[in-house]
Amino acid sequence: MNLKVETDPSAAECGGPAAKRRPPLSFDEAVAAAIGAAVPSIGIETVSLIGSLGRVLAEDVIACAALPRFDHSAMDGYAVSVDDFVGTGPWVLDVSNRVAAGDIVEHTSRSSMQATEIYTGGELPDGYNAVVIWERCTVLARGRVLVSSKPKFGDNIRRRGEDVSPGATVVSAGSFVTPHVAALLAALGSATVTVRPKIRAAVLTTGNELLPPGEPLGPGQIYDSNRHMVAGLLAAPWIDFVDLGMIGDDPTAIQEAIGTAAKSLDVLITSGGMSFGAADHVSTAMAAAGGSVEVLNVAMRPGKPAMIGRIGGCLLIGLPGNPMAAAVALTMIGLPAIKATAGIADRRTVWASAVAEFDCFKREGRTEFVPVAIEGRDGELPTLSLLGRGSSGSLLPMARASGVAMLRTDTDAIRRGDIVSFHRL
Ligand code: AMP
Ligand code: MG
Repeated sequence: MNLKVETDPSAAECGGPAAKRRPPLSFDEAVAAAIGAAVPSIGIETVSLIGSLGRVLAEDVIACAALPRFDHSAMDGYAVSVDDFVGTGPWVLDVSNRVAAGDIVEHTSRSSMQATEIYTGGELPDGYNAVVIWERCTVLARGRVLVSSKPKFGDNIRRRGEDVSPGATVVSAGSFVTPHVAALLAALGSATVTVRPKIRAAVLTTGNELLPPGEPLGPGQIYDSNRHMVAGLLAAPWIDFVDLGMIGDDPTAIQEAIGTAAKSLDVLITSGGMSFGAADHVSTAMAAAGGSVEVLNVAMRPGKPAMIGRIGGCLLIGLPGNPMAAAVALTMIGLPAIKATAGIADRRTVWASAVAEFDCFKREGRTEFVPVAIEGRDGELPTLSLLGRGSSGSLLPMARASGVAMLRTDTDAIRRGDIVSFHRL
């Protein structure tokens, strides 16, 4: 990792000497720097298939069998051979057998004009190559059936291996075990799954003014909201969340807390300690605790820099105290690095196109993130309204938002009808 300790982050923010030395990072560069600070976890764990839901696959999954496992009927009806349907119909067939899902089929040889009654999931006996659905057949007396339209080869038959061929890589290491991946693994017969160990990720909030909700506030005090935002964003099956509580603006205490906690963690997230004056508390405490840490000066808004660094094998993420800035920094910059730590292959933030139903001005050269609500649709795309853009200290806009819109760097205004990128929260 190539991180250096930035001793004066406020100078960088305010256009002081540090800013002159290094131009601000673009948003993409900041994400790349954060991911670069992450050390992917090692080790594997074998868990039950149900227990693997939401976890990260440690190995590629190679199909040990074909899916479907055998040729079978996709419908209830009559298995036939298309070769019997010569000339013009209707045709009358003798029904000799019946096959339901789970029945053991005797693959005897089929005589001409012979049909087998078959149900969905029933294995197709040898010699048959189409299924005529029940609704297209008229049952006659003495075990015969009348079919008036000619079936096509393969009608209503699911072939062995048409979904999955044996030996194929069906899911890659680093993917999540989604409900659909779990279903696939179950179909292949996996009772257990090899996953990455959960990462241990903790939050430590800093600030003399903070109290936990439930206690009476004194003058100048506020409740610690960031802890709950971080806990919520980290509530995932692949994370073991650790709550390290609050700590005052005491550099020594912060340093000790960080140094001790980092030893047993994969990720340590701090909040606060980044305003003018108290600026260096957290970054210098991180450095004094033995970490390499960089205050990212990013051309984005909310603009307070996030700090990214490492102590040993622990990824450090320092969030600004302002709630909206902290939420954006964690979601947009911190989470990709946390995903990289957990061995998740795809850590990109998912963006979709949406139509702005608002006008707003921004500074060109800066990527801006604003809370938005989905209002309706314009053709295929959702339309977005803007929620309380402005203060990075606000809580209500994010609480009401359906997501965050990213306003392009290369423009100074978004106009009603413009396409913006939308990330659903
Ligand atoms: P700081 O980054 O410590 O300078 O804090 C910036 C602003 O965010 C100040 O108004 C703080 O009171 C506020 N703040 C800091 N930490 C938290 C927190 N955990 N929850 C809510 N607000 C906070
Ligand atoms: Mg503070």
